[in-house]
Amino acid sequence: MPRLSSLHLWIKNYISNKHIQIPSAEIHYIISGITGISKEHLLIHKDSIVSNSDSEKIKRAVKKRGNHYPLQYIIGSEEFMGMDFLVTPGVLIPRPETELLVETALKYTADRKYRHILDLCCGSGVIGLSIARMDRYTLVSLSDNSASALRLTHKNSNRLGLSSRVKIYRGDLFSALPVRSKFDLIVSNPPYVPHNRIRHLQKEVLYEPVKAIDGGRKGLEVIKKIIQQAGSFLDEDGILIIEHDDTHKEYLETFCAGEDQPSLRYIKTIDDLAGLPRLSIFSRKHN
Ligand code: GLN
Repeated sequence: MPRLSSLHLWIKNYISNKHIQIPSAEIHYIISGITGISKEHLLIHKDSIVSNSDSEKIKRAVKKRGNHYPLQYIIGSEEFMGMDFLVTPGVLIPRPETELLVETALKYTADRKYRHILDLCCGSGVIGLSIARMDRYTLVSLSDNSASALRLTHKNSNRLGLSSRVKIYRGDLFSALPVRSKFDLIVSNPPYVPHNRIRHLQKEVLYEPVKAIDGGRKGLEVIKKIIQQAGSFLDEDGILIIEHDDTHKEYLETFCAGEDQPSLRYIKTIDDLAGLPRLSIFSRKHN
């Protein structure tokens, strides 16, 4: 059976022959993810023995990674808000900037008035489940149109021990929910990338489900629907927090005012750590 050191040599040669770059931290993730040996152990015991089948799996994974296949799909998980969430191909990989959405939501839930939460377009469930996990007082509904996304949401919810405070629905936007559902807080990271920009994104993104990313011509197609419909699903004083592209701020500032009978009022936009306008907050309009 191969030793770790010879596997490392194979990987090194593969990388240099193919003129590709894979950071060594990622190699450690791949080996540890496949063998189940901790990264710390791997670093100390450089001559550990690896089974033939694990060695083949590791080589295949390195080849995939060399073709920009996302690391998260190889190891099957991603860290978000300090927790480990399962991710599989067919579901969007959580982005660090989306933690801002969770942090902002938690500021509202800290005030006990915001208890019933909806995560719309939940994907693997990271936003809603993080809120449920970090604020034990909340009751969280999550919905998505994708069956494979919801399978993951279920698994992630169970892994985090949240199933008693979490409900999961399948369907297109708000039509997924039971009639007359009302929430204090709706959070959403819908598909919002302007269509023509998708092919210019990192190659890794091309392995992700395009329907979780493509927001139509300007990236606003789903966002507009959500803002138009959210009012009927929010309690009085209810809040919508929505993640969006950094080109959307100006449009969103005035969108509600320009509607015939707006049910929401624009409150403010918050910048992400890169200083880009990343999410906007709306409140249910008082009549
Ligand atoms: N922020 C993601 C990206 O840049 C897109 C997420 C989304 O459309 N919701 O790929």
